[in-house]
Amino acid sequence: MRILKFGGSSVATAERVEKVLDIIKESQEESKLAVVVSAFGGVTNQLIKMTDLAGRGDRGYEKDYKSFSERHTEMIMALTSGERQKKLLKHIGKYTLRLGEILRGVYLVRYVAPKTYNQILSYGERLSARIISQALCEIGVDADFMDARYHIRTDSNYGNGVVDFNITNSNIKKYFESHPKTQIITGFIASNANKETTVLGRSGSDYTAAIIGAAVEADRIEIWTDVDGIMTANPHQVPGARPILNMTYEDAMEMSHFGAKVLFPPTIQPAMQLGIPIHIKNTFNPDSPGTIIDSSGSDKKYHITGISSLDAISLIRIQGSGMVGKTGLTGRIFQTIAKADVGVMLISLASSEHSICFAVDPASALVAKLALEEEFQLELQVKNIAKILIEDNLCIVAVVGENMRHIPGIAGKVFSTLGEHGVNVVAIAQGSSERNISIVVSKDDETQVIKSLHETFFDKI
Ligand code: ASP
Ligand code: MG
Repeated sequence: MRILKFGGSSVATAERVEKVLDIIKESQEESKLAVVVSAFGGVTNQLIKMTDLAGRGDRGYEKDYKSFSERHTEMIMALTSGERQKKLLKHIGKYTLRLGEILRGVYLVRYVAPKTYNQILSYGERLSARIISQALCEIGVDADFMDARYHIRTDSNYGNGVVDFNITNSNIKKYFESHPKTQIITGFIASNANKETTVLGRSGSDYTAAIIGAAVEADRIEIWTDVDGIMTANPHQVPGARPILNMTYEDAMEMSHFGAKVLFPPTIQPAMQLGIPIHIKNTFNPDSPGTIIDSSGSDKKYHITGISSLDAISLIRIQGSGMVGKTGLTGRIFQTIAKADVGVMLISLASSEHSICFAVDPASALVAKLALEEEFQLELQVKNIAKILIEDNLCIVAVVGENMRHIPGIAGKVFSTLGEHGVNVVAIAQGSSERNISIVVSKDDETQVIKSLHETFFDKI
């Protein structure tokens, strides 16, 4: 079986959905399929906006709700006809009415509980999957709607559910044994043990495809999106960037953690465990080869696989002469940061131990600094720690690639390229996997750095 997943931009309009229907119909002739879909493009954002407005007691949510309902009705009108259309309109009408009631409830009490929020978010995928399954029936494909909430079990971490794979795998296997039709599955959504709706995180539909793919031990997971694959660099920054034809799971993980937005990072793990290839394809350019992620490795012609970046980070720097040789300090720093619920993207510790710095999301920088100042109050007082600083206006550029393991000279090339362009490097980290060299530079240098590294590694050979 093959799993096909179509993202929001692939199903943003009726014309685009028609393209998707063609792809499904064609693929179905080659292999048995299951199809995961996102909400229609922009719908999840709209649901978030409506909920926020309603929760603040702002009736402005009603306008968005109206356009939400109209948009789904228009989709049904464009993609179905006759009796099927009538039935679907009635059905979807009931759904949207219920959504309106929930939003009204939020508006009246001026409060949205996390579980209510997740329930509201689920409407995007529940509606799109239902409408697309009926649109497929309309063109003669035997399709069924599948609500993933009945099968994918998570904990109660609303907004970012953690999947219980034992229960989930067995649910999905059982379901597919007795449902032979092509399943059109809601991406993004799941439920907890109390049957309350949870979601898998923004962009989580990719993950749904991997969860289903792993449970049925699919031959391939196809992620259909709006670009030609994972690119050697961001094409907005490097016009000569090109799609990467083949890369390892590990490289895909590094690239997606460091800013390449094509794939939701947790997607890779379940596929990697079973060796299921992930194929990234372009809905609007289906003839282009796309990117294949598997265990076979990357194109040996280049020393690196790609360059990606996180374009806004803050660096927290802790320094002081009293830090040298103190055991347990690093542990305390990161425990404090974890307790403050701040994620860390890169760590760099000088071997002199005189300073340690790490990168965080700029929105969390102050929280991190305050938490550290509280934890190290005493050390600051007696000047064992001189200061805790935030450095802003920075970014991380990551050079990623399986092939650079054990090849000497890659780091040298990276830094001489930066030197030639007069770029000041603020911090460096190399993953011990040797698949990633990350450099922190000023945000103002970001495009220049990526462009010149791309030239060094892809254009000059
Ligand atoms: N609709 C959800 C979102 O926009 C999930 C997805 O599209 O992958 O985040
Ligand atoms: Mg996506």
